Amino acid sequence: MQVHNFNAGPSMLPNEVLYKASKALIDFDGLGMSILEISHRSEAFLQVMAEARQLVRELLQLDEDFEVLFLHGGASTQFMQVPYNLLDTGETAGYLDTGVWANRALKEARLFGNVEVIASSADRNYCYIPKSFTVPKHLKYLHITTNNTIYGTQWHQIPEVEVPLVADMSSDIFSRQLDFNKFALIYAGAQKNMGPAGVTLVVVRKSILGKVSRLIPTMLDYRVHIQHESIYNTPPVFAVYISMLTLRWLKEQGGIAAIEKRNEEKAALLYREIDENPLFKGTADPADRSRMNVCFVMNDPSLEKEFLEFCKKEDIVGIKGHRLVGGFRASIYNAMPIESVEYLVESMRYFARTHG
Ligand SMILES: *Cc1c(COP(=O)(O)O)cnc(C)c1O
Repeated sequence: MQVHNFNAGPSMLPNEVLYKASKALIDFDGLGMSILEISHRSEAFLQVMAEARQLVRELLQLDEDFEVLFLHGGASTQFMQVPYNLLDTGETAGYLDTGVWANRALKEARLFGNVEVIASSADRNYCYIPKSFTVPKHLKYLHITTNNTIYGTQWHQIPEVEVPLVADMSSDIFSRQLDFNKFALIYAGAQKNMGPAGVTLVVVRKSILGKVSRLIPTMLDYRVHIQHESIYNTPPVFAVYISMLTLRWLKEQGGIAAIEKRNEEKAALLYREIDENPLFKGTADPADRSRMNVCFVMNDPSLEKEFLEFCKKEDIVGIKGHRLVGGFRASIYNAMPIESVEYLVESMRYFARTHG
């Protein structure tokens, strides 16, 4: 690591993962060929895919009804693929509107059936998580975005519902312990907390599939990918490999329980500084703050440009806020070491001392 990389996605990966991946790029597993040059149906790659799927199963402690898939197309394809497979014409799905990504998801669902927005935090630019709402029992499923990458909010309490729960966990998958068996389907683009861009994790209950009457194109039918153990066509081989290495790394760290503790420490450290430092303030409601994406602004907005330049000089990268929120966003996913968060906090203190 040459800089302190707070990018929101694609984002930093563990050094040892990058090192191993770089070696596999030249010679994979002593085969005398790059991992980019082998067949996706070779024994070597079949093992990579099997291990990746097994690690997901193990880390999330999934029951037998679940299947684990590594697909193309990013989380954005799942916005469409989920209703394609789960929502019949005339049926209704519920969506929790907590930001841009949630909106993109519900917009796609409208192409397939009815969408009911069950709750929204649009009234205050998505700076909080809706609290009191009722979930009608007639919904085919309820869709939730567990972490709102752009606004720095996160569901700390997953709603208890009687309908199947579908979750976009792109920016907090593997970051905290949840009862993952409570979900019917979970998806996540890899490039935030699991690996590089180019592959999407889908974890789906077999028992919810096959219930819509429409015809589903082969590549969009989860059942086809399940039947072919996630190698129906050529998968994004290198992205799956790096994701597998990252999952191995996570297991070596002690799994989700251990990484959750570290994530809590990192977030607490940074939020404490934001709350105590006279120059800065957080943008999300404190109770709903994300442990992955920490959003903050300056009390004097005219200093923001200077702070950004100062960060650049200090090798602090990727903390410019999303244009919809402004200010700063420090993304502190699993791979981010606490030392980098400490470094950012020190830099904020130094800036306050010299600009007080
Ligand atoms: C980044 C992000 C997406 C979009 O992911 P792509 O893989 O680029 O399609 C969707 N949902 C959330 C919560 C995200 O953070």
